[in-house]
Amino acid sequence: MNQTDQLVDLKNLSPDALVDFLEGMGKEKFRADQILRWIYLRGVTDFSEMTDLAKSFREEISQRAIISFFTPETIEISSDGTRKFLFRLCDKRSVETVLIPMEGGRNTLCISTQVGCAMQCSFCLTGTFGLERNLTASEIVNQVCAVRKDYSVDNIVLMGMGEPLHNLENVVSALKILYASKGFDYGPRRVTLSTSGLVPEMLELGQRIKVNLAISLNATTDEVRDELMPVNRRYPLSELMQACRQFPLAPSQRITFEYILIRGVNDSQADAKRLVKLLHGIKAKVNLIPFNEHAGSAFQTPDENAIRAFQTYLLDRQIVAIRRAGKGLDISAACGQLKEKLENKLLGSGKESSLQGK
Ligand code: SF4
Repeated sequence: MNQTDQLVDLKNLSPDALVDFLEGMGKEKFRADQILRWIYLRGVTDFSEMTDLAKSFREEISQRAIISFFTPETIEISSDGTRKFLFRLCDKRSVETVLIPMEGGRNTLCISTQVGCAMQCSFCLTGTFGLERNLTASEIVNQVCAVRKDYSVDNIVLMGMGEPLHNLENVVSALKILYASKGFDYGPRRVTLSTSGLVPEMLELGQRIKVNLAISLNATTDEVRDELMPVNRRYPLSELMQACRQFPLAPSQRITFEYILIRGVNDSQADAKRLVKLLHGIKAKVNLIPFNEHAGSAFQTPDENAIRAFQTYLLDRQIVAIRRAGKGLDISAACGQLKEKLENKLLGSGKESSLQGK
């Protein structure tokens, strides 16, 4: 074990844990606020730059702690302005982060929570890699820090690689860091967590921290959902929808249901009808996402008429149903696709890659 292994990465510490850490060094509570400002508002990663801390304190803390940071290894820019960042981790693995321009000049950042994913959804490339490991809280937060250096980030979605609720502890710490009023100060309404439907963890999340919840639904029968999303065999639709009814929501808040429309699989009028029934009694909005066809998947994008008819059926029954444009389609924005493409490029160029030997 080398010396850096024993140092605490301050970006792994929630604001409360930072206070505890500093108290362990005999420092006052307000020092945590100063440090949060330096790290998250000013992007400082070197204690020597923290000029409102005594020099002796800066020297002492640098013996015990580090402040990690990410620099993007590659950035791909789509014609619609979507930017995809690939970050290399200390163990040579990699994660992707996507910055999506929204209407009104605002940007949404889609961040990853795991390397790979264990959930094996059949429409998702990340699912085919399997789970390599959880990201630490600092690795989750560093995606935001790195992108904010050069771009404004108005909203954050935990919707990149990985199932966030399969990495609940680190995700909760990361959310606390994102919410810290002396740091980034993202209100919980600006952050959305998307899950494939891990029911017990959903309920635990609702008890522990506020966040917008999105459910990756994608089917209206257990038979189809079992096939698309194996998590459904553990937590079938009835349990998932019950958990949604129990999830604590602020008066104006709704649960978002992501529904990837796949030709001939889940895009019929019968599906639209069942979806309306499933959502009964839930404050919901539906995002309809036509499947993004890619090599290696037999699924197809539905035809335009089916997409419109599906959306109209929901709208006619007073369900908010928004069609999501396929942002970044020309750089394969569906989760996992960037990583595969960039890794292939690296393998092709003979550079070291986390996928070598597989
Ligand atoms: S869709 Fe999400 S939960 Fe499913 S395999 Fe892909 S990353 Fe995992």
